[in-house]
Amino acid sequence: MQTVLPLTAATRYFIDLEDHYGAHNYHPVPVVLKEGKGVFVYDVDGKRYFDFLSGYSAVNQGHCHPEIIAALIEQAGKLTLTSRAFYNDQLGEYEKFITELFGYDKVLPMNTGVEAVETAIKLARRWGYRVKGIAENKAQIIVCSKNFHGRTGTIISFSTDPSSTADFGPFMPGFTIIPYNDLPALEIALQDKNIAAFLVEPIQGEAGVVVPDDGYLRKAKQYCSDANVLFIGDEIQTGLGRTGRMLCCDHEGVRPDILILGKALSGGTMPVSAVLADNEIMLTIAPGEHGSTYGGNPLASHVAIAAIRVLLDEHLIENAEKMGDLFRSGIADLNAPAIESVRGKGLLNAIVIRHQNPEAAWEFCMELKENGLLAKPTHGDKIRFAPPLVINKAQIIECADIIGKSLSCLD
Ligand code: PLP
Repeated sequence: MQTVLPLTAATRYFIDLEDHYGAHNYHPVPVVLKEGKGVFVYDVDGKRYFDFLSGYSAVNQGHCHPEIIAALIEQAGKLTLTSRAFYNDQLGEYEKFITELFGYDKVLPMNTGVEAVETAIKLARRWGYRVKGIAENKAQIIVCSKNFHGRTGTIISFSTDPSSTADFGPFMPGFTIIPYNDLPALEIALQDKNIAAFLVEPIQGEAGVVVPDDGYLRKAKQYCSDANVLFIGDEIQTGLGRTGRMLCCDHEGVRPDILILGKALSGGTMPVSAVLADNEIMLTIAPGEHGSTYGGNPLASHVAIAAIRVLLDEHLIENAEKMGDLFRSGIADLNAPAIESVRGKGLLNAIVIRHQNPEAAWEFCMELKENGLLAKPTHGDKIRFAPPLVINKAQIIECADIIGKSLSCLD
């Protein structure tokens, strides 16, 4: 039985509205937010919370960062959308900026994360046929079990989560699923000459912040290079400072052949995603063969530069590493019997709850909410803790206290 906490009239009103008129494809924590600033969000009754979800890591720079909002407003007053039928004066500057920063020849701009993953898959297949020489319609892409790369038809075709796939078939063929963090399985799968790419999350975020063994990404990249297979890094959740490096792959000195970014590329203001690769891969797609009405729009281009500059100028990547260490040691120091483990890198962390009650993680999140901290369970017993990277030392200590105090609800 889930605890039903009393809700205020305003909260009830907005929840009922969504419930009545919106599709039921989410199960939100019962809090209705109205404003956000930095690490904090405020509900319709004015109560303040630490946001430990950060829009699933889209708000790395903190809510409503003044420089990102200023860039948004400045560009919104000039030009927002041209489509790619015409050039605009923002896209080229953004393309130069992001390719130089990450060290790739070219970028292909999209909007949501899943569109960027779709784009990467199309690029990898094209490269497989036109450069590697795979026979027509035979290309395979290796993916990992328990992956999360988004919700479109192609992407759920290789999900191993029944809640993503049940009664959504038929599915797209061409994917080989191996266990995550399993190099021998990768080695065997790579023996197939039709493999074009290996698509991997450097940490599996939605699966519950599953961190692979040290050396996994480095060796996986090496195996792929040896087999003439592209390594595609999905850094949509792990990238842009979240794990204490610009890219999570940077922890192991790995440069993906195709890099996918999203979420924090706009600091949580609008959907902006990107696929980066060198010419040999990117130029296999010619005019008219792929695109998106909004992809590369001047508003997104201007905002993305501002969002990345904030990460660099405010040293948020270094802060993520330091605050992450402090957070994990603060949780370990709680010595709480209900916490089975705490894991993560930088400010992408999760705890695993040990409790007989299958609703324990949800109840704990309700208690956290009461105590002024928002987080959400993933896969039953895991709770992700991923605050904006602007969080400071005193706030981390306060939040570890809130987490410790809230655990008493599980006694
Ligand atoms: N890839 C990863 C690793 C993700 O975590 C997500 C979203 O959580 C996606 C892709 C999909 O991104 P979007 O929801 O913007 O389509």
